[in-house]
Amino acid sequence: MKIIYSIKEMSDFSKKMHLQDQTIGFVPTMGALHVGHLSLIRKARGENDKVVVGIFVNPMQFGPKEDYKRYPRNLKLDAQLCRQEGTDVIFYPDVRQMYPANYKTYVVVQDLSDCLCGKFRPGHFKGVATVVTKLINIISPDVAYFGQKDAQQAIIIKKMVEDLNLAVKIKAMPTIREKDGLAMSSRNTYLHKDQRRDAVVLYQALTQAKDLIRQGNRDSLDIIRKMRRLINKRRSANIQYISIVCPQDLKPVDKIRNKVLIALAVFIGKTRLIDNIVVSP
Ligand code: AMP
Repeated sequence: MKIIYSIKEMSDFSKKMHLQDQTIGFVPTMGALHVGHLSLIRKARGENDKVVVGIFVNPMQFGPKEDYKRYPRNLKLDAQLCRQEGTDVIFYPDVRQMYPANYKTYVVVQDLSDCLCGKFRPGHFKGVATVVTKLINIISPDVAYFGQKDAQQAIIIKKMVEDLNLAVKIKAMPTIREKDGLAMSSRNTYLHKDQRRDAVVLYQALTQAKDLIRQGNRDSLDIIRKMRRLINKRRSANIQYISIVCPQDLKPVDKIRNKVLIALAVFIGKTRLIDNIVVSP
């Protein structure tokens, strides 16, 4: 396995592979890899000749008061995990190469970026769309793999690839969870013991919503009210939003008639966690 630090070397590698008719599967991450990331790498490994894992903590997608500086970084451990999963290349560019001092260009996916998480993290999805476009241009992967854990992100990236005619297929893979249901996340490492216990309430609230819908409840407001009641029982939990939306355009749904995306963001202490499920009535 190679670790490539330079953009030029990365795109030279990809060109060489394509000349040899080798397909490239790409898994973009911010590192601090866990089993959720590894599930994407395994899928990429099974479907492509070469697997490239991107590790880049992208400053453009963090707000000024967010955790960019303290975000967990551990290249040595990440490299070990990537090697075990049969990764061919880790692409690990530095910030100055990705965003030189005179950097001017951004990618914005309108509307889809302004709701749900986008409402509370202005500029976040602009940062995501911009870095993913750059990475796709540098690596030219045949397929790029994203997690359903970040459902809004996957939807935005798919729309961006369609609108900009980018020559890559986007695949969204299921959320990998801890035994108790908590969605795996690099940010779970921030949680203290009692907070970790409270954090399971995101999944419990989503499961409760799914059960209510399966039992015939079609009223989003009522379901959200019940989810709020459950979450607010946890001392360390502070709800940022709970939304029930259409999984295509992310518009709010009042009466549930078709498949819906139920998404939420909850602060557990100072740690902001997100989760979601898709439910059919
Ligand atoms: P991140 O390093 O958090 O930016 O995540 C990199 C990729 O891994 C994104 O496409 C995420 O959606 C995906 N991912 C993160 N956590 C999980 C999880 N628990 N299950 C599946 N995919 C995940």
